[in-house]
Amino acid sequence: MKRIRNFSIIAHIDHGKSTLSDRLIQTAHIVADRDFKDQILDNMDIERERGITIKSQTVCLPYVAADGQAYTLNLIDTPGHVDFSYEVSRALASCEGALLLIDASQGVEAQTLANLMLAMEHDLEIIPVINKIDLPSADIERVKQQIKEDLGLDPEGALLVSAKEGTGIAEAMEAIVHRLPPPKGDADAPLQALIFDSHYDPFRGTIVHFRVFQGAIKPGDRIRFLSNGYTYKVEEVGLFQIVRKPQRAIAAGEVGYLIAGIKTVSDTRCGDTITLHANPCPQPLPGFREAQPVVFASIYPVAADTYEELTVALEKLKLNDASLIYEKDTSAALGFGYRCGFLGLLHLDVVQERLEREYDQSIILTVPSVGYKLILNDGEEMMIDNPVLYPDPTTIQQSLEPYIRASIIVPDRYMGAVMKLALDRRGINKNYQYLTSNRLEMIFELPLSEVIYDFYDRLKTVTQGYGSFDYEIIEYRPGKLAKLDILINGERVDALSQLVHEDRAYSRARVACDKLAEEIPRQQFKIAIQGTIGGKIIARSTVNAFRKDVTAKCYGGDITRKRKLLEKQKKGKKRMKMVGKVMLPQSAFLAVLKSD
Ligand code: GDP
Ligand code: MG
Repeated sequence: MKRIRNFSIIAHIDHGKSTLSDRLIQTAHIVADRDFKDQILDNMDIERERGITIKSQTVCLPYVAADGQAYTLNLIDTPGHVDFSYEVSRALASCEGALLLIDASQGVEAQTLANLMLAMEHDLEIIPVINKIDLPSADIERVKQQIKEDLGLDPEGALLVSAKEGTGIAEAMEAIVHRLPPPKGDADAPLQALIFDSHYDPFRGTIVHFRVFQGAIKPGDRIRFLSNGYTYKVEEVGLFQIVRKPQRAIAAGEVGYLIAGIKTVSDTRCGDTITLHANPCPQPLPGFREAQPVVFASIYPVAADTYEELTVALEKLKLNDASLIYEKDTSAALGFGYRCGFLGLLHLDVVQERLEREYDQSIILTVPSVGYKLILNDGEEMMIDNPVLYPDPTTIQQSLEPYIRASIIVPDRYMGAVMKLALDRRGINKNYQYLTSNRLEMIFELPLSEVIYDFYDRLKTVTQGYGSFDYEIIEYRPGKLAKLDILINGERVDALSQLVHEDRAYSRARVACDKLAEEIPRQQFKIAIQGTIGGKIIARSTVNAFRKDVTAKCYGGDITRKRKLLEKQKKGKKRMKMVGKVMLPQSAFLAVLKSD
């Protein structure tokens, strides 16, 4: 155990975590250089495109240090987005130390600080690493000053690295060995292991990623998950070295995987404790919490006859994504679908993209909503996230909406712009403080419903990309809630209904009507679009009937061109949904989300 180091790399997005991880893996020579793909750790397409890690990957690196001793370095990767902060906290709980990576030209940003706080909560030993020192805009002295003043760490201990060029990597490996503490634990005590992640393998079922704190685990053991009491017989245990390397046992202090015929990842919960059925540990490891969805939306197939396919696709996706929850939903306009709960908007985006790209589903996503709490006249409480289930307003005594505490870090020249944005979104400025002479942290309390659509995008725009944003949900507060309905040619389209704050009702209705009018193609007849609340019309717009056939201007001469046009129209139609007599394109459902 003296020769094991368990550590994470934590950083603000884009500061070079994946690049550095790849360098460390390359140095350990566990994959042949010719097989070395860029950014091995981010192996999902969507992650690569967006440059963020959603599923964490762990890797066990053998390393012979300058002192001639052989060490095992377990690099535990963490997801890189606020939506996944619980998963991050479980990964950090599995470590003794962390490299805190800071971009030499960007300096300390919101998630640098947020991640450092998380790491300190787990009493991790922190090594600051200044990355991208090769950049002409690198300002090492400034970053060192921030490390001292903003982070309260010793800047003299900071490593200077260029993950891209490979500078300072050897020093980083030595620092991991000599500056991070080894794990503690008793391999003979009853098993106590922490699940920090899991993924699904089509051949072997769920692969559980865990860290052993006490005892040991080996094939043939009957294990038990403390949160749900499920028991399984262990088939295989091993280490992650890009490929799985089976072992005879994984003991206290070590990190590894197990395979035990577990059907879906939903049976394994991040943060749960694994013990032995016959000789259980006296108590679970601290900090277990069920994943809580915060954003809800319905998913419908564009063509009703692909509902079964969508069902299968969601089941498969769920195998790998325990935090996705869904149940059957029906809509008068769209037929059968699913109501889904997501950890945040990014999670929603990822699910939508994976359904479309990996599972080839053509889907319609309804307006996302947060969960509201209603207190009814008879004193009963109900949670509601689906406009379709909104009760008769006269039976509601009070509605409550979730609030967040947001931390926004910006250069102080953007203070006014950020203040305006946040106040426009019903935010309350609680506090602000200078982190450096010109860098400001502003704390706001905001309704979650006001940030889920495009707050982050707007923040980036008004701060020219400099603003960073982090949040946590704090509590439910009273808020005036109303249900906005959209009528198309007099017919209510339930899938376009949204739950809105009363003060927002007019502007949301206006936006929805305008956007729908832009998105709905002209058809043979005039289409009236109306926004209503409790039957009262508060906004309207119109799509005029079209005058000529699209092919009319081809003069009948150019047959191929005509055919191409028709082909194109047909493709367009695949993403259209008939609602009554009106064809609604998929884009119409997304359009109502945009706020301006
Ligand atoms: P992550 O979001 O923290 O995982 O960051 P990535 O590792 O994906 O890196 C973000 C971007 O910074 C990529 O374009 C990298 O090529 C680049 N990058 C990472 N490390 C360095 C470095 O040391 N020098 C330079 N110039 N660019 C780097
Ligand atoms: Mg990355």
